[in-house]
Amino acid sequence: MPEGLIVKALSGYYYVQNFDGGQPVQCRGRGIFKKRGQSPLVGDRVVYSDTENGEGTVEEILARKSELIRPQIANADLAILVFSVVRPEISLVLLDKFLVHTEHARMDAVIVLTKLDRIPDGEEGVRIHRDIENARKLYSSIGYQVLLTSAHQGEGMEELRSALAGHINMLAGQSGVGKSSLVNALVPGLKLETNEISDKLGRGKHTTRHVELVPIAGGGYMADTPGFSQLDFAELGIDEIGSCFREFAELSSGCKFRGCTHTHEPRCAVIQAKEEGSVATSRYDNYVNFMTEWKETKRRY
Ligand code: GDP
Ligand code: ZN
Repeated sequence: MPEGLIVKALSGYYYVQNFDGGQPVQCRGRGIFKKRGQSPLVGDRVVYSDTENGEGTVEEILARKSELIRPQIANADLAILVFSVVRPEISLVLLDKFLVHTEHARMDAVIVLTKLDRIPDGEEGVRIHRDIENARKLYSSIGYQVLLTSAHQGEGMEELRSALAGHINMLAGQSGVGKSSLVNALVPGLKLETNEISDKLGRGKHTTRHVELVPIAGGGYMADTPGFSQLDFAELGIDEIGSCFREFAELSSGCKFRGCTHTHEPRCAVIQAKEEGSVATSRYDNYVNFMTEWKETKRRY
């Protein structure tokens, strides 16, 4: 039986893109999924059978590598974290928060710093260039790809295109940072569904919109809905935050105590690395603040 990828779900139908190409096949799910409490998701790799009139049936959902809740999507493996370098400026707090969520979702992340053409001359420009260079060095040293782009001038777009190829990609970033502009340049015809639009449609009304995967050049897909709009830590365990800081995860085997929280314990390898300068102060401070925020989030629920 053929295999494919669910690229869209609408009104009880799943649209399955065969791995060999062609148009997506409109499929129903097998009745048994409901009994098993299984629900096929956009992003699922599935086995399907062709039935009459060019329609099909999803017969089997292949093992999922990851599952996100907002947007609800399976197997997204690369997050494109977009930050503008001016208006608004890069926020390392938000960046580290995004990275906690991507690590937790077992996704890799590419950090895109955009609107490079907008850096002003003079002192402010010098400072922004220095911030960009510091962020680039820091996050590359941790193991993330950092790209410098301008959607308006085309800078860095080839690198971004090749970073996305072959992946199921999801964008994340504050409103106004330039996500739609990047997408327009990369995936012509894809209109990004922003949260603002779904807010206008009105919560409360039945406007549950499903994410759709749009094919991109070089193979792979882009989700048409940005992710991580609600960034609290409600879905994480407190002991999971530290392991979402890649460089801490490697160091923590050197901590004296198993289950070290890297906050007050003696002979903590992470605190020691921070004092020696091999763990960045901004990363360590954000970690400590996230731990506090986590406790406050839990208190509210
Ligand atoms: P989104 O809300 O993240 O999708 O952001 P948009 O793509 O809608 O961009 C927000 C604003 O920034 C718009 O006015 C864009 O024209 C502008 N913008 C986006 N990318 C760039 C860029 O690379 N250079 C410049 N100068 N402006 C940009
Ligand atoms: Zn420690």
